[in-house]
This record gives sequence, structure tokens and C-alpha cells, in this order.
Amino acid sequence: MTFRALVIDDKSGTYTAEFRDLTDADLPAEKVLVDVAYSTLNYKDGLAVTGKGKIVRKFPMVGGIDLSGIVAASDDPAFKPGDKVLVNGWGLSETHWGGYSGRQRINPQFLTRVPPAFDLSQAMAIGTAGYTAMLCALALEDAGIQKGGEVLVTGAVGGVGSVATAIMAKLGYRVVASTGRVKAADYLKMLGAAEVIARADLDRPAKPLEKARWHGVIDSVGGKTLGTAIAQTHEEGAVAACGLAGGTDLPTTVMPYILRGVKLLGVNSVTCSAARRDRAWARLATDLDTAKLAAMTTVEPLSKIKQLAEDILKGEVRGRVVVDVAK
Ligand code: NDP
Repeated sequence: MTFRALVIDDKSGTYTAEFRDLTDADLPAEKVLVDVAYSTLNYKDGLAVTGKGKIVRKFPMVGGIDLSGIVAASDDPAFKPGDKVLVNGWGLSETHWGGYSGRQRINPQFLTRVPPAFDLSQAMAIGTAGYTAMLCALALEDAGIQKGGEVLVTGAVGGVGSVATAIMAKLGYRVVASTGRVKAADYLKMLGAAEVIARADLDRPAKPLEKARWHGVIDSVGGKTLGTAIAQTHEEGAVAACGLAGGTDLPTTVMPYILRGVKLLGVNSVTCSAARRDRAWARLATDLDTAKLAAMTTVEPLSKIKQLAEDILKGEVRGRVVVDVAK
């Protein structure tokens, strides 16, 4: 039986991403064989598929940092045929073959059981972006940010931003959404934003300390946006930083940290422990409204992945994209 996969290669400096028909014999020698139903499109997938970021560390590589599907065969006693599983990160599309494939063999330590609250498509509507949004929410909670406080979400129309907006609003925070797409204000208010502000308000050089406004921040943008958000964070407030869509630099000073006790919390979803992943997925099941998840999600065929990868890097994708690997 053959199945289609998006194979990324780099021969003599020429980077390619093309569809190939594979068989089980082509797959890595891992213990659990999964019939992949869906993958997703994350910013990192855009970088990997186009080659615009150094994501892939081993060639040839099957793309897709996420997958959901059904176990077809297992040499590990923890999993049996028929189990519904998902993978977020763990180096898929970097050092391990990923989800843009009809079938994949996976290290059982990378597998998370799909919570009963979600089907395979919803699991990928959440995907790495949504699970990272929940890791950021947990980081703010663990830092003691009280419900009712004002929370800033940057890059709000993007994947992490859309899910973060919906979660934080449902948890009872007053969400202020920052976006370069102010035309999408109605979309952000539908997700639960109380107020929408323009990207340019934050994407500028900041003073060391500015008027304090945010009790918490979820930032997927980085760069000057993150620097300004930190300078505007209240005493004992916290900033969860997970992204670089606006840049990898961070113009900041020690002032917010030593005069206001602001906490800068780094969030890494890729090698996050299984226990923390399980905690995040359990909380997604209770604290993410599935109607809002549906409203922020589109389903696209795998055949369109190269165009979608270009689109997400240009900031033209709204919310989350589920990739149907059979189409
Ligand atoms: P998306 O492309 O869906 O969202 C990014 C959003 O950032 C865009 O929609 C846009 O929002 C905003 N943006 C884009 N370009 C710029 C720019 N030049 N300046 C300011 N804002 C910009 O990506 P994802 O949600 O999938 O990922 C977001 C970021 O988080 C990425 O950098 C990604 O690598 C990172 N990430 C990190 C993880 C981790 O483990 N640390 C896990 C998951 C994601 P708007 O139009 O509203 O302004």
C-alpha cells in the first residue's frame, strides 16, 4: 500500500519540498504505526516547508510538526490498534519524520492520547499553536495572575493568538488583543476580546518603563512588541513569551524586572515534559470553547500545503488551519 507524503530535501544546496508516494518500508523504525488523519499548519511549518527558517535538521524529512490519527500497529504495550493519538512537536519535521503523510511511525514517548472531549480534527485545530497558548495561560496562572486582570495577547489573529484570546476570555480575564489586522476586530471580539488595539501601538521603541497596564501578557511576536509589552506590565505582572513572528530580538532594560518585579516566562512547547503536556490538554478540554475553536478553524487539503506555508509567513492566515492529509 502506498500513501502520499510531503518530503523535504536539500541536495547540493537546493531545498525542495515535494510529494512522494511512500510505503511502510520507507518509514522510520519506531514502535507505533499511526494512520494519520490530520496535521496542521503552524508558523514553524511555514518556515520548514519553504526553507525560510532552519527548522529541518536531517534530510530527507517528512514535514508537519503535528499529527493526529489512529494507531494501526504497536510494538509498545502502552498503545494498541484503534487508539486515538496526537503528537505536538518533539522534533517532528526537525529530526523526526512528521505529520504530512498518510502514515507515520512514531516513538511512543511522543504520543499523547486525544482527550475524549475532542475528535481527531479538533485535536489538530488546536495543534501546537493551541497547546502552546494553553502552556502560556498555565504559565501566567502559575505566576499568580489573578482573574479579572487585564491580559494583553499579541499577534492575536494568528494561531497562538486566537486560541489564547478564547482561553483567557473564558477564564475570566479582560483580554486586550493586539493585531496588525484591525479589520479583524469583529473576529477577535467574537473570540472574547474586550478591546482590540493596533499592532503599531506596541511595535515601536519603548521607554524603559511606561504606564503600567497589563497584569499578564501572552506574546507570540517578540521584537519591539514584546519590549513595549514588558515596559507596560504592572508590578508583579508576568509575560509569557513564546514566539518570534515579529523578530528574534528583545529590546528591553532591567527596569521592569527590578522596579516592578515583572516576570518574563519563556514557553517552549517542543520538548515540554509529558506531564505538562497532559496538564495542558486536560485544561484545553475544559477551558477552550469548541464553538469558538470551530469559528477560528479552516480545513485545507494537504495538496495546498506549499501555498499555505507561504501564506502563514506573510501573516495572511487567520486562526488555525487543519490539514486533511487524505486530500
Ligand atoms: P501565525 O502566523 O498563525 O501567527 C503569528 C501572528 O503574528 C500573525 O497572525 C500576526 O498577527 C502576527 N505577526 C506576523 N508578522 C508580524 C510582524 N512582522 N510583526 C508583528 N506581528 C506579526 O503563527 P503561530 O500562531 O503558529 O505562531 C506564532 C509564533 O509563535 C511563531 O513565531 C511561532 O514560531 C511561535 N511558536 C512557538 C512555540 C514554542 O514552543 N515556543 C510553539 C508555537 C508557536 P496579527 O495579524 O494579529 O498582527
